[in-house]
Amino acid sequence: MNAMIEVSEASKAFGGVIANDKVSIQVSEGHVTGLIGPNGSGKTTLFNSIVGYHPIDEGSIKFEGREISEMRVQEIARLGLLRTFQQTRIYSKMNCVDNMLISVPHRHETYRTMFAKYPPEVTDKAEQLLEFVGLYSKRHLISGDLSFGQQKLLEFAMALMNEPKLLLLDEPTAGINPTLINGLIDRLKRASAELGVTLFVIEHNMPVIMSLADNIYCLSNGRMLAHGSPDEIQNDERVINAYLGAHYTADDT
Ligand code: ADP
Ligand code: MG
Repeated sequence: MNAMIEVSEASKAFGGVIANDKVSIQVSEGHVTGLIGPNGSGKTTLFNSIVGYHPIDEGSIKFEGREISEMRVQEIARLGLLRTFQQTRIYSKMNCVDNMLISVPHRHETYRTMFAKYPPEVTDKAEQLLEFVGLYSKRHLISGDLSFGQQKLLEFAMALMNEPKLLLLDEPTAGINPTLINGLIDRLKRASAELGVTLFVIEHNMPVIMSLADNIYCLSNGRMLAHGSPDEIQNDERVINAYLGAHYTADDT
């Protein structure tokens, strides 16, 4: 197994709050790796550090063997490492295809030329990916009119537009109607298997992460509490206690 991401003893504090305390993880190429932990345990902070949103105080973060902890977001994105957010970030007044098109960074853009310049193969790719996530029939709808779950799927498709090698997903199922969650899990699994995208997923919902990931890390109070297969994690006393001892809310921020 190749470690695509290797975080070694990474620490990050905000004022007096130690959000990540000597955290080490490995994300293997071609796999789905999960990151769980109670609210405030430091999951989003770790993602933010990996994608270059903020620097770590100590430690190392490598992507495909290269140190990236000093790089900025755009530089890291160009290497093929992308993330989605807990809150969706789509342009609600644009239709789905246009959201897909503007999700690809391009060189010379003014608002006027933004949409004119896309070659047909880019539009085709946008439509293919919308089909992949099940939004093809809605591709010309204003994205603000989609359901929340459909907006999440659109955001996922927008990330895929950039052909990431590694995609970090922060609570992809948060706020989604439980009956639609299985569909989303299937799309994520298919993206991993068919498009070859390595996934690193923060998830609060235990059954979801158990079904999705083959390898799970659990953070608690900024520290890595446990690491193992879904089975091992599910039966780990420390993990169970961390969850039982925490104020659990489905919609973590
Ligand atoms: P999780 O995603 O596991 O819920 P976070 O990584 O968001 O946890 O937060 C971990 C801790 O770091 C929390 O105590 C949170 O309040 C704090 N924190 C996160 N981001 C910031 C920030 N930008 N400024 C100050 N404190 C922050
Ligand atoms: Mg979070």
